[in-house]
Amino acid sequence: REAKGKLPRYPGLERWNLVEKMGDGAFSNVYRARDTQGVYNEVAIKVVRKFEMNSTQGDKVLHPDFKKTPKGVERANILKEVQIMRQLDHPNIVKLVEFSEARQYYYIVLELCPGGELFHQIVRLTYFSEDLSRHVIVQVAKALQYMHEEAGVVHRDIKPENLLFYPTPFIPTRNPKPRGPDDEDKADEGEFIKGVGSGGIGLIKVADFGLSKVIWDSQTMTPCGTVGYTAPEIVKDERYSKSVDMWALGCVLYTLLCGFPPFYDESIQVLTEKVAKGQYTFLSPWWDDISKSAQDLVSHLLTVDPDKRYDINQFLDHPWIRESDEVTNAAA
Ligand code: ADP
Ligand code: MG
Repeated sequence: REAKGKLPRYPGLERWNLVEKMGDGAFSNVYRARDTQGVYNEVAIKVVRKFEMNSTQGDKVLHPDFKKTPKGVERANILKEVQIMRQLDHPNIVKLVEFSEARQYYYIVLELCPGGELFHQIVRLTYFSEDLSRHVIVQVAKALQYMHEEAGVVHRDIKPENLLFYPTPFIPTRNPKPRGPDDEDKADEGEFIKGVGSGGIGLIKVADFGLSKVIWDSQTMTPCGTVGYTAPEIVKDERYSKSVDMWALGCVLYTLLCGFPPFYDESIQVLTEKVAKGQYTFLSPWWDDISKSAQDLVSHLLTVDPDKRYDINQFLDHPWIRESDEVTNAAA
């Protein structure tokens, strides 16, 4: 019965053969799975527990998407995450294949991104060359442009753990050299991405819409609510929520280029203070060989005033991004 290693069997999920566990979180486990009917290629299945047992108390901790009615009846609300994903159709966004539920679980069947998280690639390679960073960040930006300008959705959780990819033999980059004193021993790992077929980064896909939010009605292109009666703070709210993704995009770009995040401190209080003030630096020696153009772009994203921060179109218009034509041509 337990032949499949330690993988559990879920009621109502018989169509899929779970192959391995790919990730786990507070309320969810993600598995790689095969379709027994042979219709789909391999998929990723996010199994979300509707409630969590608090082992010591025996209390049920409800999933945030669960609605508690005044009568105390727990009624399952279709996950907001799924509702939003259903509306999205873009090459740089993970596709929803199917959604179903059992008494205790939601099953979100997703397009599989076989490369896994971008996060692990940063750890593996120490940092990305400017060409590889551009190759990655442009794709994330295209997904955000679609969300912000066409779909009326903000993601609100852009980070390397939620950026997934397809490996490819094509690596649009040169071999990075060690930049800082601690990077010396990682030089060989940097070599690895030079070789064709060594599992480079191809198509990037934005995943995890668990914190995402609808900012306007994509059918009518109007703010949620009655047109003409929309208060200024609603309009501003919409703009600010987009700028949250742009800040995160800046944090990701910074991290790709140098291998560590722009804001860090062991103390949460100190870290929070640094973020609030926008206290970051292009730390030497790690940033010494990174172009001024890249630094200029990062600084326009890591701008504390959301009105001055670049929006998605300003980002894509920046010279450092537009240099990408050169790379694409060189690769062909
Ligand atoms: P959570 O809300 O728990 O963060 P995610 O949707 O981010 O849930 O999924 C958790 C992890 O599972 C991801 O960081 C990634 O490692 C893996 N994962 C999720 N979806 C996929 C997918 N479509 N393809 C490959 N791995 C995935
Ligand atoms: Mg996640």
